[in-house]
Amino acid sequence: MAKQEPISLLEFQSRFRNEEAYGEHFFNLRWPEGFCCPKCGNKTPYLIKTRHLYECTACSYQVSVTAGTVMHKTRTSLVAWFWAIYLIAHDKRGSSSLLLKKTLGVSYQTAWAISHKIRKAMVDRDSQYKLAGLIKMDDAYYYQ
Ligand SMILES: [Zn+2]
Repeated sequence: MAKQEPISLLEFQSRFRNEEAYGEHFFNLRWPEGFCCPKCGNKTPYLIKTRHLYECTACSYQVSVTAGTVMHKTRTSLVAWFWAIYLIAHDKRGSSSLLLKKTLGVSYQTAWAISHKIRKAMVDRDSQYKLAGLIKMDDAYYYQ
C-alpha cells in the first residue's frame, strides 16, 4: 500500500494538468517498479499515446493503463474524469450532473454516466483502485 498524503486543489491542478500526466499517473499505479509485460515479462513497452495503451516490444501484447478502472474504454478525457471525481468527493451535497456538465464542458449524458460510475465506485471499498488512487477519507482528500 502506497503512503497517503492529502492533496490540495492547487497541487491537484499542477500535478494533473493534461492527459499525459494522467497517463503517467496510471502507469505508476499499475507498474510501480516499471513496466512488465503480463504475457511475456518483457520490460520494454512502446507507448501508443493517443489511447493510453502500452504495447510490449517483444510480443506486441497491448495493455491499457486504465484497464480495471472506471475510466476503462472511456471516450471522455481523463482530465474530465479526474475533475469529476475531485468535485464529487469534495462536495458534501454531491455535485449534480448539471454542475458537472457546466464545469467540465461535457454533455449531460456524459456527466450523468460519469457521476453514476464514480458514486458506485465510491461506496465500494475495494474499488479504490478504480478511482485511480484518488480517495476520500473523512473530510480531506487523499492521493494514494
Ligand atoms: Zn510481451
